[in-house]
Amino acid sequence: CLERNYKTQSTYPARINALLEQWHIHQREARGLRERNNRLKLQLAIPTTLRDEDSDEALGLKDMTKEQLIDEARALKEKISSIEEKESAVQSEIDSLAAAIPNLTSKETPRGNEPKVVGYINEHPEPDPSSSDRVWRSHVHIGSELNLLDFAGAATTSGWGWYFLLNEAAQLEQALVQYALSVARKHGWGMASPPSMVYSHIAAACGFQPRDQNGEQQIYNIQQNPNDVGRKPELSLAGTAEIPLAGMKANTTLEESDLPLKRVGVSRCFRAEAGARGVDTKGLYRVHEFTKVEMFAWTMNSTEASTAVFDEILSIQTEILQSLGLHCRILEMSSTDLGASATRKRDIEAFFPARPKDDGWGEVTSVSTCSDYQSRRLATKVDVRNLGGKIAFPYTVNGTALAVPRVLAAILENGWNERNLEVKIPEVLWPWMDGMKVIKQKE
Ligand code: AMP
Repeated sequence: CLERNYKTQSTYPARINALLEQWHIHQREARGLRERNNRLKLQLAIPTTLRDEDSDEALGLKDMTKEQLIDEARALKEKISSIEEKESAVQSEIDSLAAAIPNLTSKETPRGNEPKVVGYINEHPEPDPSSSDRVWRSHVHIGSELNLLDFAGAATTSGWGWYFLLNEAAQLEQALVQYALSVARKHGWGMASPPSMVYSHIAAACGFQPRDQNGEQQIYNIQQNPNDVGRKPELSLAGTAEIPLAGMKANTTLEESDLPLKRVGVSRCFRAEAGARGVDTKGLYRVHEFTKVEMFAWTMNSTEASTAVFDEILSIQTEILQSLGLHCRILEMSSTDLGASATRKRDIEAFFPARPKDDGWGEVTSVSTCSDYQSRRLATKVDVRNLGGKIAFPYTVNGTALAVPRVLAAILENGWNERNLEVKIPEVLWPWMDGMKVIKQKE
């Protein structure tokens, strides 16, 4: 772990040190003034006739009348409160700079902008030029042919970037969620159904700022009632179940025997995606709200323990995508792609035959290990006294079991049969599709 994930905040540690120095000066000054104020108060409490000259002299209060003592106490009170104000301004600047410092980067991570391809899942589906069955169509086209997607209706209710899933697509969403949950459960992950709204400071502690390192809005904040501003903590819509799942153990000390603690949660995810939609303005690829099954785990505070869970998540992702018949590649992500909290990340990209970008490749899952970045900020601890240690910070690992919209789009595009105007449904989903094997055009 040698460098930060990105360089934009490289001046922050030096600035924090300078502020910390200032904070100590304010602290010392306020402490001295408080001590003197306490002495004054004590002296004022003693009747004048009982005041002892020696102790007055020792305290630097000799020859001061009661009125002078009262005046000085009043002046001290004002000075103390002005120093306290400066102290808290410095404190909040330190807090916001510290929150924006990204994690360190793992040795496994390629430096720079280029991820490394480390493996493939399923064979590449080649279109057969001699057959009219294998014509690639976009999922937007297929969704409209088969009456599965409605973007215009959602634009009326919510705007562009939202959608209705209709008929078999809505059923497929539930099938995908149930299937992914069943695989995660089979591997020992306990289920959780988390809240969709979270305190903004919990999201920030997990590495989700209202704006990312490029200044783009990441998550939606809830507008506060003016009477609550400054009195109640701000709330945000969770961009991923990772945030409430991590936050669930904030200010908690776990037992060593609890670890690894593995949770799988289903949630609606809300993403501002301001400026990020670009070529993906059409369709399901980049939307503002979607359903995701997410895995989150706390492990012992070692690279070995967190890597074991990281590898387990990757193998669950592989199992799910392989059984859905999608052609995919696995990438070790580069240092500029890690975001704030990850120390290492692997993405899986599926092949979308009709995607006009990146030769059809598009990210469908992600797995990240965050070392103790999140648990330190959330004050999640583990008691390792049995191991001869002290209280430590567990490592956290998170990964997608299944994010619905892109997988649904990939199933539609890869399973499309142009001659029959139908989409093949992967066999593992049949139990949740009332036995339906294909989605056909309605008569
Ligand atoms: P993340 O939580 O950002 O690591 O994303 C996990 C997965 O969620 C991605 O691999 C995508 O499959 C999916 N995803 C992320 N953002 C969006 C979005 N705006 N629209 C649709 N799917 C998304």
